[in-house]
Amino acid sequence: MTEPTIYELSSPGRAGVTFPDPDVPRAKLPDSLLRADLPLPELAEVDVLRHYVNLSKYNYNVDGGFYPLGSCTMKYNPKINEDTARLPGFTFTHPLQPIETVQGNLALMYTLQEWLKEISGFTAMTLQPAAGAHGELTGVLIMRAYHKDRGDAKRVKMLIPDSAHGTNPASSGMIGLDVVQIPSDARGNVDLAALKAACDETVVGLMLTNPNTLGLFDEHVEEVVKIVHECGGLVYGDGANLNALLGILRPADVGIDVMHFNLHKTFSTPHGGGGPGSGPVGVTEKLAEFLPSPIVGILEEGNDDMPPLFGFITQKKTIGRVKSFHGHFGVIVRAYTYIAMHGADGLRQVAEYAVLNANYLRTRLNKTYRLPFDRICMHEFVAEGKVEGSDIRALDIAKRLMDYDFHPPTNYFPLIVHEALMIEPTETENKVTLDAFADALIKIAEEAKTQPELLHEAPHKTPFGRMDEVKAARELVLCCWLPEDYEKK
Ligand SMILES: *Cc1c(COP(=O)(O)O)cnc(C)c1O
Repeated sequence: MTEPTIYELSSPGRAGVTFPDPDVPRAKLPDSLLRADLPLPELAEVDVLRHYVNLSKYNYNVDGGFYPLGSCTMKYNPKINEDTARLPGFTFTHPLQPIETVQGNLALMYTLQEWLKEISGFTAMTLQPAAGAHGELTGVLIMRAYHKDRGDAKRVKMLIPDSAHGTNPASSGMIGLDVVQIPSDARGNVDLAALKAACDETVVGLMLTNPNTLGLFDEHVEEVVKIVHECGGLVYGDGANLNALLGILRPADVGIDVMHFNLHKTFSTPHGGGGPGSGPVGVTEKLAEFLPSPIVGILEEGNDDMPPLFGFITQKKTIGRVKSFHGHFGVIVRAYTYIAMHGADGLRQVAEYAVLNANYLRTRLNKTYRLPFDRICMHEFVAEGKVEGSDIRALDIAKRLMDYDFHPPTNYFPLIVHEALMIEPTETENKVTLDAFADALIKIAEEAKTQPELLHEAPHKTPFGRMDEVKAARELVLCCWLPEDYEKK
């Protein structure tokens, strides 16, 4: 089943738009811009609309169904976020406007910085980074700048637990640091003996995800931080899993020195399909002057009659800019809205329900699927996608779930669990949905024994069946269609 392309639907002379009269004098386009040989499709508005609406139905989406994508916190995005992000006062501003004319935007950014500080316990904040991985890069640059500033140039190693997201070693590798992998112990914590052995005076720091990607809170987090600090290193917190901690634990309180947020995960701004994201970075006092600049600050204090004057501040030892202008403002507005709507109590409830939902699913499934670390989890857990007495793999289970109208969970990550199925329900799903999902996974385990071919060949209900995933990733066809005689013209 394939949808005809917009070119195949084209019919000469059909038109979809009528341009309004220009409010500026008409001018001729330069000849160099006019290309008679460009095969532009000709369609009516209704043809275009139906084409794209039909294509959009091929996509699974969080507005259409459950999305238990571990490590990604794919929660439902309240539509009020979209309303506020579309307010003309925000959309019709430009980052190069004089600050006096964008005080509202700056006040919003300043307030969000303050809220993120309160949530995390950090002293200073930048909203510039474009996503989590970009926040990591910013954070490791800050860590290195801090050591260099102290005249300590021999630190070249970053310690990273084996349960970390791939972006952690990538961010460290990008700035030329040597990555040293630290194993996990039998309970899924950082292996303390291995950490001690790796800590010396060449260590920039440790990148710690807590809860980690197994969905487990490290039972010795304070000990881990202490070991790294004792050898002069800093601790980077990967804040992608903050959804489990909101209102319960402030990462700075356990000694984390620098951390990125994923506004597009924890604070419900859409990120399916690759963005845009936002990865603010928070730091403790001693790292504050290294933050990317400028950051939003108060230039003149306000009083009863006058609001404060917001503007931009440059940190003394800044690592420089990491993003053009001031980050992804639309995402920042959405996160602001989400936090304002929830308030402190609401945010704590988010974390409590996220953890409750994950543990509910875990205990419904742990008799059917083996859980390598079957202890109370945080917002997610990892199961093995195997069924005893069958040759079924995690991939088969993931594909079969699509026939039951569920988005598959993350699979084959984290790498330390064979045939990993990483399940994160989030707080926005109710018990009926969670039960339906658990029932589907239990049914699939039965099918694995009685009708394994059903799983091997799944999915059966989607517009396209089982894909060659390697080929799809390696031989991406980006230009979908050109008329056969295009080259010749
Ligand atoms: C999502 C994620 C990242 C990367 O964040 P992006 O915004 O996708 O760049 C890093 N670490 C963990 C644990 C994550 O889940």
